Amino acid sequence: MTILQFTTKRLLPAFATVGAGTWATLTTVNDDWDDYTHHPWLSSGSKDTKTEKVVILGGGWAGLNALRKCAGPNKEIVMVSPRPHFLYTPLLAGSSVGTVTLRSACEPLRNLVNVAAAKSEDATFVRAHAREVDTKNKTVRVTCGESGSELHLAYDKLVVAVGSMPNTFGIPGVTEHALFLKEAEDSSRLHARLLSNLEKAAALMHYGADQHANEIDRLLHVVIVGGGPTGVELTAEIADFVDNDARVRYGDAVAQRVKIDLVEALPRVLGPFDAQLAQVATDHLERRGVHVCTGTLVTAATAETVTLAPSTPRTATPQEKAAARKQAREEPVGVMVWAAGIGSRPLVKKLATALGQSDLRGLKVDSCLRVEGADGVYAIGDAALAGYAPTAQVASQEGKHVGRVLRDGTDVPFVYHHSGSLCSLGQNNGIAQLMVGKTANNSVWDAIGVPTVGKDGDQRAVTGVAALAMWRSLYWSKVMSHSSRFHLSFDWTKARFAGRDVVEPPLRRSPTLANVPVPSPKETGGFKKFWSSQ
Ligand code: FAD
Ligand code: NAD
Repeated sequence: MTILQFTTKRLLPAFATVGAGTWATLTTVNDDWDDYTHHPWLSSGSKDTKTEKVVILGGGWAGLNALRKCAGPNKEIVMVSPRPHFLYTPLLAGSSVGTVTLRSACEPLRNLVNVAAAKSEDATFVRAHAREVDTKNKTVRVTCGESGSELHLAYDKLVVAVGSMPNTFGIPGVTEHALFLKEAEDSSRLHARLLSNLEKAAALMHYGADQHANEIDRLLHVVIVGGGPTGVELTAEIADFVDNDARVRYGDAVAQRVKIDLVEALPRVLGPFDAQLAQVATDHLERRGVHVCTGTLVTAATAETVTLAPSTPRTATPQEKAAARKQAREEPVGVMVWAAGIGSRPLVKKLATALGQSDLRGLKVDSCLRVEGADGVYAIGDAALAGYAPTAQVASQEGKHVGRVLRDGTDVPFVYHHSGSLCSLGQNNGIAQLMVGKTANNSVWDAIGVPTVGKDGDQRAVTGVAALAMWRSLYWSKVMSHSSRFHLSFDWTKARFAGRDVVEPPLRRSPTLANVPVPSPKETGGFKKFWSSQ
């Protein structure tokens, strides 16, 4: 057989089959067959139908999926978001230590809005903050840029998908001094702080290890507050980074001195997961040298310290609470990341209050995701109080549901399909709690020895490399463009074989022009503070 014959008879058909199979699998997994059945080529809008103005606030998991599904004839869509990219949140923990680059985690919204524009009468992106919704006159007030220029956008249908923000629970010092992991900027700040502290510690160890012992230990003390999935995934990434890349770059002596604490108020980490799987995660982190401090509450923070106290159950007596407070201890800290949960954004609180809703944790919606008391307004994702966990899985399903409702013009109740939960534990490990139902499929799971978890035994627990492979392949399949998929594949391959991307993001800017005054120590809160806050 010649090379040409081999190529045409074997290679090309094999590639075509694999390609078509991958495309069909991705389309099925992502529930996207209606992109073809409802393509504008097949269903051109009637000229008599009035054009509907749809305003979508937010370009995250919920808003973007709503946009993709509602785009169609007779739709004039405006997407409003202060950040110009869709942020692929599951990659954020990895991006803060260079396992992936932010290029893989951020997808320019304009590209995605342009795709919707090709299917609709019009679709535009407005980079702005939505400030206020006037539900009587059906307008949204938004402000653009630093000057705060105001625009008033009229809508027939409004989708509120502005997500959530970190919740500090009013704990003193957290807003001012903690780092967070919610936006792309947070990941850059964290990466910069970790690298900058390692550099300072390495210099001090080289030129005065004894004299500066306390400062070195402070710089290298990393505290992650919150043992939910965000805190656990981030801790695993930092532990891997220290053990591999920091060790290579700064040497064993520096890497060994890094202390990582994961602080969780509840008796165990990973509340949403089965207790056995949470234990797998705890054991993994402890093997990587992390101190998993459960039953411990962070009660205050300063630029260089964190205060820890034993947590007490809600039912604790005032005496028990006072006894716990007495045991509070202050520890020096170089990096503190607040991953202790989320709360609602000001716009959501404002709208909920205006509508007379009493629970301000989100916008109360009915079974069709319509905001109660506001005609033509839907709330989805973390901004909605719909009775589901604030996850990307829920947000994207809600987004698709509302998008289809707007496209088809019929309100139907939303039904959530939970496929399971996955948590990456970094290098070569992960946990997966999969919904499999009680079907005949279970015999296959039994045959390969996958244990059951959950109350009704309708879930299966996978751990180790297999779970990590599931995490990676699922999230790889859901990335929004082939370009990002390519970048992500490259990042993971590079991190595996040539180490992470260890480049300090240029946050601290020296003036470009020599005559621009450098901030004085007084303006920056003293030299030491300026140095430690960069
Ligand atoms: P977001 O995705 O946060 O999007 C909100 C959008 O609203 C953004 O575009 C924002 O710019 C915009 N916006 C904000 N304020 C305004 C305003 N005033 N006006 C207009 N627009 C505004 N969930 C999972 O299921 N699996 C995971 O692996 C997972 N990993 C995560 C990792 C991290 C680090 C974090 C922080 C979360 C993770 N989550 C995960 C949770 C998941 O990211 C959220 O539940 C999901 O992002 C919610 O989607 P959303 O569209 O409601 O909000
Ligand atoms: P979370 O609310 O799930 O966890 C926060 C944790 O912080 C809680 O366990 C809480 O007890 C603890 N905490 C709160 N205050 C504290 C304090 N003062 N001191 C010590 N501990 C404190 O928040 P999250 O992990 O950011 O997750 C938010 C949402 O995003 C969840 O719905 C989660 O499922 C989802 N998410 C999912 C994944 C995944 O599926 N892999 C990854 C990240 C986030």
